[in-house]
Amino acid sequence: MNIVLMGPPGAGKGTQAEKIKASYPIPHISTGDIFREAVANGTELGKQAKTYMDSGQLVPDEVTIGIVNERLTREDCQQGFLLDGFPRTTIQAEALDQGLAASGRKIEVAINISAPNEVLIERLSGRVSCKDCKKVYNLQYKPPAQAGICDVCGGQIIQRDDDRGDTVARRLEVYLEQTQPLLDYYRQKGLLYELEGNRDSIAVWADVQKILEKF
Ligand code: AMP
Repeated sequence: MNIVLMGPPGAGKGTQAEKIKASYPIPHISTGDIFREAVANGTELGKQAKTYMDSGQLVPDEVTIGIVNERLTREDCQQGFLLDGFPRTTIQAEALDQGLAASGRKIEVAINISAPNEVLIERLSGRVSCKDCKKVYNLQYKPPAQAGICDVCGGQIIQRDDDRGDTVARRLEVYLEQTQPLLDYYRQKGLLYELEGNRDSIAVWADVQKILEKF
């Protein structure tokens, strides 16, 4: 199953991606995670990506497309994959389709999770995660049992630089300008499923499962 998971920051993509990953034996490819790891490792890619990420902008298409297309050629992606946070522009979607077509593959389903802006802002401002195992918490709705310490691995709880202040607003603007138009791309292909993300993640997951069962 070749899946694309889309939605504005804070809509719950990451939570649903974790659930899909636990239920289906396909690799989870998150471009945001790839860039964050590169930043943490201080690689050339990380240095390049950081400036864009810190200002809430998208990393240039040519960089992002190259990384994803290379990742999708690996053996573990041949029976399916879950793309999380990619594509984010129509150019990325077209390049993805071309890359997959070259090996006789295609995207089979695109799921978009949305939520009102005020909900996204509230969620993002409370979002924190473990520095080590990356488990996500929310300081308002789902805080760690002991402040600042991960329930799962005891790691340090941190806030993403780009979940702060003005960067959140910029990321939401960028989503509206550059990523929302992409919904039409998948709608026209008859691949798009739209879900309301302003609900409990278990209710959203029930809908995701209903969609994926069809494939
Ligand atoms: P995310 O964790 O998906 O919210 O991504 C964090 C940041 O990584 C974004 O705000 C962008 O700066 C960058 N990024 C992630 N995915 C992409 C993409 N498909 N295209 C361009 N930039 C991306």
